[in-house]
Amino acid sequence: MKWAVVSDFDGTLTLSDVGDAILMEFGVFTAADIERSYAPGQSVEKWMARGFARLKASRAEIELFIGRSIEPRRGLTAFSRFCADRRVPFDIVSGGADIYARPLLKAWGVKARSSFGRTRGNGGCWELRYEDLAGKTLPSFKADRVKHYRDRGFAVLFCGDAPSDLRAAGLADKVYAAGRLRGLCRAKGIKFSPLRDLRDAAAFIKKNS
Ligand SMILES: [Mg+2]
Repeated sequence: MKWAVVSDFDGTLTLSDVGDAILMEFGVFTAADIERSYAPGQSVEKWMARGFARLKASRAEIELFIGRSIEPRRGLTAFSRFCADRRVPFDIVSGGADIYARPLLKAWGVKARSSFGRTRGNGGCWELRYEDLAGKTLPSFKADRVKHYRDRGFAVLFCGDAPSDLRAAGLADKVYAAGRLRGLCRAKGIKFSPLRDLRDAAAFIKKNS
């Protein structure tokens, strides 16, 4: 069986949600705002765009903050290397923003195809746009990436942590779930393994190839 990996970024390839952490650190959102943003029917893209429009921090301040406070999921760099060596497509589908995701992926030596919101502007006047979504909602976009690989004969391993990952998880052949996605998968009867260390996902692909 040939495998492709489709994965969320924030809270999945990182241990905490980076967008949320930045917006709280610089006083844009409270913890209660963040909690509300995860309620059913809320749009991650809209919350993020609204938050970044109010974010009064420069690129340098953002990079300094993430550099000292954001940790990768265990095994991430090794997993990225595993996928590259085996030519397993590794596709990151994210409602996060390039301004923090790209420097983190670079620092951690992760090579992957990726879709993030694109940030334009500078300190205090950020515009965040989701051009890759091409008008789709984030949950549909993620689900469509899973379908994209399945239609091409791949079995898909999906990793995620949040409500916007649920539809994609429901279409994948193997799911690793962290955070809120675990309870949501349980409620929908979607089988998953807990996401702890990405080397578990590499071992799964190796065993089932
Ligand atoms: Mg996430």
